[in-house]
Amino acid sequence: MKTLRIEVEIPEDLRRDVEQGVYYCSGSIVASRVDRERGSSIEIDVLDEADPASLEQTVRSWIEQTIRSSLRYEATTVREWGGHDGFVATTEEVLGSPEIHGLGEGLVAYGPKLTRALRAIRGLCESLSEGVGADPFTLPAVATLEHMHRCDYLRQFPQLLSFVTHFREDFGAIDAYSLQCRNAQVADECVPSTDGTRPVKRVLRPAICYHVYACFDGGTVPGKRPFIACAHGDCFRYESRNTTSLDRLFDFRMYEIVAMGSEAGVRDLRERMIEEVSGLLERLGLPGRVKSSNDPFFVSGSVMMSTFQRAQDLKYELEVPFPNREGHLAVASFNLHQDFFASRFAIRTDDGAVAHTGCTAFGLDRILAAMLVHHGADPDGWPASSREMLRLPD
Ligand code: AMP
Ligand code: ZN
Repeated sequence: MKTLRIEVEIPEDLRRDVEQGVYYCSGSIVASRVDRERGSSIEIDVLDEADPASLEQTVRSWIEQTIRSSLRYEATTVREWGGHDGFVATTEEVLGSPEIHGLGEGLVAYGPKLTRALRAIRGLCESLSEGVGADPFTLPAVATLEHMHRCDYLRQFPQLLSFVTHFREDFGAIDAYSLQCRNAQVADECVPSTDGTRPVKRVLRPAICYHVYACFDGGTVPGKRPFIACAHGDCFRYESRNTTSLDRLFDFRMYEIVAMGSEAGVRDLRERMIEEVSGLLERLGLPGRVKSSNDPFFVSGSVMMSTFQRAQDLKYELEVPFPNREGHLAVASFNLHQDFFASRFAIRTDDGAVAHTGCTAFGLDRILAAMLVHHGADPDGWPASSREMLRLPD
């Protein structure tokens, strides 16, 4: 392993995204640190076999492209509230809990207490949904490429996607694979050859709301009050080397409240959601703030998109203080998509206009992680008021 230090000016609002995004530049990068104070350099630890000169060139040109295509905006904080100070448990204590089972990079299983707590957190989302009259949907965890292409996800966030395939209907190929596994000493010898598999036509969903638009393909929603859908389930994002703890998983649980209707109706619902979700977390005893934001980018086109998002106040995130490098964790986002998805799925309001859409997305694992570090690794010891709110039994 060697360390490469690249002198480059990185604007303050891009330092975190550069530090996390640089892993996608090359598989030989195993750790990265941007000087967060001055932003005058990035240090990367790289495998010995990497060619430092060409790696530096790749990283430099990626950073330059990122800076070039992104305009500078000050993030604005629209709400902020306190709670108890400091953390009750460290992330190490949380990860050491007998209720958390690491089952592979970014894959966790929770035992009964944490599963009940997670279910209770989802229950709070359900109550919010009911409060705004949302209708529940059941959606698949897999999406077709055709669908995600229509959502423009493939162009914007290819680095996050996981692709799904399977064997061709071919006895020879299937039987040969079975034999390969029977003789394998280690799992690496069970990686299937792509000769026997079909071309990739499906992906694991990276968020919930995309399927909702597809359910309304060519449909009509009321113009007066938005149609509101809610759904939840596992979502998948390949976060590369950033997947080190509970806060950034490959397979995580999301709950979404999705609105479709007039621009004003969708925007009003977002304001209400910001207010209600903030109040909810405050009552759970979690401090936090709601800030304008943008989606982290890697490829060039998305950078324009993220700039646009911030310029237009299209994305807000609810952040809770967290003992990670950033000092906080986004546990929910409040998004407006204008008429982007509705025009791609021909969704209109009943007065004939192209609908607007928006979503409120909750990272359920992250809310749980925030509760664990703020109130303790064992939910039995959480404050009575939080337990009561979550209706956890005494
Ligand atoms: P986004 O669609 O990026 O706004 O994500 C919605 C919410 O999902 C975020 O606010 C996070 O709480 C959660 N989330 C996003 N990515 C991850 C991840 N890799 N692991 C766990 N939670 C995540
Ligand atoms: Zn969404």
